[in-house]
Amino acid sequence: MAGFTVAIVGRPNVGKSTLFNRLIEQRKAIVDDISGVTRDRQYGLAEWNGKTFNVIDTGGFVPNSEDVFEKEIRKQVVIAMQEANLILFMCDVTTGITDLDAAMADLLRRSDKPVITVINKVDNAQRQLDANEFYSLGLDPLHFLSSISGSGTGELLDDVTAHITEDLNTVKPETELPKIAIIGQPNVGKSSLLNALVGEERNIVSDIAGTTRDTIHTHYKLYQKDFILIDTAGIRRKTKVHEDLEFYSVIRAIKAMDEADVCMLLLDAEKGLTAQDLSIFSLATRKGKGIVVLVNKWDLIEKATNSARDYEEMLKKRFAPFTDVPIIFTSVIEKQRIFKAIEIALDVYDNRRQKIPTSKLNDIMLKAIESYKPPVVRGTQIKIKYVTQLPTYTPAFAFFCNLPEDVKQPYKNYLENQLRGKFNFSGVPVRLFFRKK
Ligand code: GDP
Ligand code: GDP
Repeated sequence: MAGFTVAIVGRPNVGKSTLFNRLIEQRKAIVDDISGVTRDRQYGLAEWNGKTFNVIDTGGFVPNSEDVFEKEIRKQVVIAMQEANLILFMCDVTTGITDLDAAMADLLRRSDKPVITVINKVDNAQRQLDANEFYSLGLDPLHFLSSISGSGTGELLDDVTAHITEDLNTVKPETELPKIAIIGQPNVGKSSLLNALVGEERNIVSDIAGTTRDTIHTHYKLYQKDFILIDTAGIRRKTKVHEDLEFYSVIRAIKAMDEADVCMLLLDAEKGLTAQDLSIFSLATRKGKGIVVLVNKWDLIEKATNSARDYEEMLKKRFAPFTDVPIIFTSVIEKQRIFKAIEIALDVYDNRRQKIPTSKLNDIMLKAIESYKPPVVRGTQIKIKYVTQLPTYTPAFAFFCNLPEDVKQPYKNYLENQLRGKFNFSGVPVRLFFRKK
């Protein structure tokens, strides 16, 4: 299995996004007291005791009437049961069991995926007693939690990670061919891109099964190179019911991403970079995947002298700090630069796989360190003696030094920029570690 996905379901205002923030340890969600406030769906990567998993907060729905509201929430629960590996069902102790909670519990009791029920806002001893009411839902296990203070989250994470038998970082590739995932929001041109490539019928070697049945893997041969494209676009088309649900496209995009070496992120040139695109971008970065950005529908943009350059600059500002990313302006309709995009994705694959010989790495990096030394802390000069690339899938480097804790972000940035300047890591997130020598 490539990646374990946990979906948090529950009524609005029970505290889903508060828990989400705790699990991913980032303060990125906007938590609001008003029920049903518009909010982007959130997804991120959580880590506990060396295990990582995807978390999706299914929460961003805005009701316009009670009926539609209940229907939509039910739909989300059904999809969560189909798509996620585990479901966290959240209730709120301060409201007790509502009709909607009971309706959701009815659906979840029939789930063949594990369901962990979380009673939130259990902030004190009185609420601990009140929470016992929820045993009547007939769901097992039950966790009492205070997402705001974090009490109870450790036990919850122990319980969740006990279900993960394989870590997504240690999954062995079942093939040595480069895998490129085509991701992006509905209507950016994913299917059109695939069709344009499929149009070159002779390039297709075979259809092979994905590791899950949610993604399609197609083996291509172009420019004497073999590679696999992973897409989810076709599947979305087959199941019409889900077409409108952005939740569905997000959860599939994450699966495709987990199975890929390189993500080809399509943007709509007219719409620009949305918050959702940026979340997908940073998730791919955190997962250490190679990234290529395609600004598609470039044919629709009125071109001034510098428009591509300005556009690229504007995107890079938003991608910061990870700006060493290829950006390609494509028109799938006019078949402009789509093969170029594939070529660049394959270059990124090679960049991500490269192993730099230790002697060469030290020659170059020690010189860079010599010409701009790390700072002196508490009267002692930080000294970096030796650099080596670690044997990981995504490039990672260990710098051995006397005071590893004292190497701060600005100097780390300097070292990363030097690495990127001297070697080609275009489109590849790199990690730097500092160790006591
Ligand atoms: P969501 O709509 O389910 O995502 O809920 P939110 O995470 O936006 O939380 C709704 C409200 O409940 C916010 O005002 C939170 O601060 C509050 N809240 C969340 N968790 C707790 C908790 O553990 N205790 C208390 N007292 N309030 C909480
Ligand atoms: P998907 O939902 O990401 O798979 O997007 P589709 O491939 O279905 O494309 C959505 C719409 O955008 C269709 O009407 C396409 O014809 C159109 N489209 C796709 N690529 C381009 C492009 O490069 N230029 C223009 N003008 N339209 C495009």
